[in-house]
Amino acid sequence: VVDLVELRRAVSELGLSNAPVCLHTSLSSFGYVEGGAAMVLEGFLSEGCTVLVPAFAYVYLIPPPPEMRPERNGWNYETFPFALSDTRLIYTPESNEIDLAEMGAVPAEVLEMPGRARGNNPLNSFAAVGILAKEVISGQDPLDVYAPLWELTKRDGWIVMIGVDLTKMTFIHYAEQEVGRTLFRRWARGGDGHPRMVAIGSCSEGFGKFESIFKPFVRTKRVGESLWHAYPAQDILHAAVKAIREDPILTHCGDPNCARCRDAVQGGPIL
Ligand SMILES: [Zn+2]
Repeated sequence: VVDLVELRRAVSELGLSNAPVCLHTSLSSFGYVEGGAAMVLEGFLSEGCTVLVPAFAYVYLIPPPPEMRPERNGWNYETFPFALSDTRLIYTPESNEIDLAEMGAVPAEVLEMPGRARGNNPLNSFAAVGILAKEVISGQDPLDVYAPLWELTKRDGWIVMIGVDLTKMTFIHYAEQEVGRTLFRRWARGGDGHPRMVAIGSCSEGFGKFESIFKPFVRTKRVGESLWHAYPAQDILHAAVKAIREDPILTHCGDPNCARCRDAVQGGPIL
């Protein structure tokens, strides 16, 4: 059974104490963790970390208005990739809506915590708790989706994969943007209720290929049954940008029918 003492020891021994960390977590990877998602978060917060998590919510996605349909946008405007109803919902950072099945229990727990901050991107928001929560989150807006990852990188932060692999690492999409790719545009209602374009990440299914590129930098630790991989953000950002520049197809998932990977490799939407 994993308890708070063991969680704190893992955070400390990985060298993460007092740093901002972006967590991607499978709670079930632990087997059993006493206190669940709240206890995992406490393990980091009691070591002085600021915890950043993706808190995506596609419940706010609306169909593309005719005047907001850029080319090469990883989207088929004739046949939507999935059924889409025109919701009237309006996102605000105070909302606790989240794609629970996809995001998991830890981000959902962050949203419920007093003092948490959540960014202003209706579809791909980040949320944070801890000392630097507001500073890390505040730059996020509908088009600057990865501002929180930049803030974390500037502050010598870490990306920590807890029982999940690199296909969950949103940070690699940030590296794609740094290479010069334009991020895909999707659609949600703005605060005024009118449709607007929102920047989001692309397909992540090919990101396992970054394992060898990040190998010089990774620190690993087993916590209960859960295998943790911690990556220093600055080092892997530089490594990922260099690798994608040298070989743009690296990010491609390998599915010849993947419209998102096809369009991302070519540079993303033409705005
Ligand atoms: Zn793909």
